[in-house]
Amino acid sequence: MLVSAKEMLCKAKAGRYAVGQFNINNLEWTKAILLTAQEQNSPVILGVSEGAGKYMCGFSTVAAMVKAMINELGITVPVALHLDHGTYEGCLRCIDAGFSSVMFDGSHYPIAENVEKTSALVKLCGEKGISLEAEVGAIGGEEDGVVGAGECADPDECKAIADLGVTMLAAGIGNIHGKYPANWKGLSFETLAAVSEKVGDMPLVLHGGTGIPEDMIKKAISLGVAKINVNTECQLAFAAATRTYIEAGKDLQGKGFDPRKLLAPGFEAIKATVKEKMELFGSVGKA
Ligand SMILES: [Zn+2]
Repeated sequence: MLVSAKEMLCKAKAGRYAVGQFNINNLEWTKAILLTAQEQNSPVILGVSEGAGKYMCGFSTVAAMVKAMINELGITVPVALHLDHGTYEGCLRCIDAGFSSVMFDGSHYPIAENVEKTSALVKLCGEKGISLEAEVGAIGGEEDGVVGAGECADPDECKAIADLGVTMLAAGIGNIHGKYPANWKGLSFETLAAVSEKVGDMPLVLHGGTGIPEDMIKKAISLGVAKINVNTECQLAFAAATRTYIEAGKDLQGKGFDPRKLLAPGFEAIKATVKEKMELFGSVGKA
């Protein structure tokens, strides 16, 4: 059964660990993440971007696949199905499709408009028991097709959005989507501490989890981060394992071309990456 991310994240914040959001792209991705969460007895959040939703034939297809897979695989750990960086309209469609969590990314709107749209979604999600993530301060990287350094959120704006009643808040603290450039300045713990102080118990979300050094991840968790998004790292692991298989000529041996064989090394690589992240974030055994 799908659950809202609220309870798992409040527990994580209180227990000083973080729950991973792992983005899904297809059946193999979803199965790898769900099985690893069950094996590690960890809560998990499946992230779906609007682009990935389109790729998988729409949000209702995704919700049906995930629900059926949880059932068929006997998954008993808490699983949230979450829209990642949604538009306002995307959030409405996911709520209708049966997602248990959505993110409204209003970070590119002026703060007044971000507040207005977030408020409307707080009401809708509240009625349906769906968790809602809001964002303040754009996360850097290729978020809008433009590669930029991560912004740092204004702690007072974070408080204004948190007070609307969202479930969790993504605040830009110099983090970036995708691979980090060699000259990256690192996370702004000053910003994170200031935001954390303003928003109290609210779980904070760290986007762009790929390539942030382990000590920075641990420090971020100690300062109130309870959800960490991982996307690119699973993609890199999948691609590398698939490349190794093909380069070794294994697709040319016997029935090595069978997609169930050809995709297996990538599947295992996603599982290994997810396990490693769950261990780092401290969510193992917390289901
Ligand atoms: Zn993000």
